[in-house]
Amino acid sequence: MSSTVITGIGELVTCDGTGPDRLGIKRDAAVVIDDSLIAWIGAAAEAPAADTRIDIEGRAIIPGFVDSHSHLVFAGDRGAEFAARMMGKPYDGGGIGVTVAATRAATDDELRRLLAARIAELQALGTTTIEIKSGYGLTVHDEVRALQIAGEFSGETTFLGAHVVPAEYAEDRAAYLDLLVGPMLEAAAPHALWIDVFCEPHSPHAFDAEEARHVLTAGAAAGLGLRVHGNQLGHGPGVLLAVELGAASVDHCTYLDDTDIDALAAAADATVATLLPGVEFCTRSPYPDAARLLAAGVSIALATDCNPGTCYSSSMPWVISLAVREMGLSPAQALFAATAGSAQSLRRTDIGRLVIGNRADLAVLDAPSYLHLAYRPGVPIARTLDLHGIAQ
Ligand SMILES: [Zn+2]
Repeated sequence: MSSTVITGIGELVTCDGTGPDRLGIKRDAAVVIDDSLIAWIGAAAEAPAADTRIDIEGRAIIPGFVDSHSHLVFAGDRGAEFAARMMGKPYDGGGIGVTVAATRAATDDELRRLLAARIAELQALGTTTIEIKSGYGLTVHDEVRALQIAGEFSGETTFLGAHVVPAEYAEDRAAYLDLLVGPMLEAAAPHALWIDVFCEPHSPHAFDAEEARHVLTAGAAAGLGLRVHGNQLGHGPGVLLAVELGAASVDHCTYLDDTDIDALAAAADATVATLLPGVEFCTRSPYPDAARLLAAGVSIALATDCNPGTCYSSSMPWVISLAVREMGLSPAQALFAATAGSAQSLRRTDIGRLVIGNRADLAVLDAPSYLHLAYRPGVPIARTLDLHGIAQ
């Protein structure tokens, strides 16, 4: 067990403040880390001795990003589909089947190597917690395999057998539902914390309200927490279903009406609206009005939805810049949503905020202030803090 003191912090953003921005910014501060936990935060002049000292030379420190929505276990490439979409071809969820075929055909080692590379990529951009969904296997064997490989890299694993109805069940959805809530759920549940469903009546490949309720109820009975893909392609029942069933998060929320917003506001302690502006960008869709959600009292989070179809980016700084530019959030609101907000969507209190006793998951910015995350879009200024030095 060794301790490290971090000094030379130009701006320490704890995301544990009061007041409108909740960022809890401290200046001339130092942080002591002991056994991977935050042991002390205070004025640099009063910092206690530690085994190692790291001087970060005026850079800003923020909580590592919590990316609470990703689909990282996959093989194959859908660059041509993206190009076609940019030239006007609409998205309806059908391309998921292309990734399912490629993922089923990949070996365990191929999937593991691809996932490891994606994890390294997001860590290099400042993300310290990643939720990973299955959903490109859609057989008992392939869903369990995806969850096991995901579990080698993250404790936040989500069973998404209800991603789409696979092609071989297109003529018999009921049979796939029976498999999903029966043998597949039973085999997957030991390897997952969460269950998720693509509740989307606007896609012929996804699940309607009744089917989604069936999946989520079965998942809860198997001991899994609930997450929902809802209201992505048009107005739909996903948000109200998520709130009714006490889901930790309902994700996308691209199309919301007043009833949805009122329900999310009333459930703000239980259900987080996780916004995924990278998807709107990559599918050329309208952005939800995040500022309106905050004003109504909704708890919001930001995540990448990194996946091979609708947003192949693992960059949380880019998501923050989109949220500020396109969804009406201030830079402070966007950073809070990408850290403390996303932690809430995973029902975690040990991450997302820099307070004594929490995990020492820090990101360092090659900038004097967090404002540069939105101010310098596309520039890789954020990275996870390597406790052996600032170079990675
Ligand atoms: Zn997703």
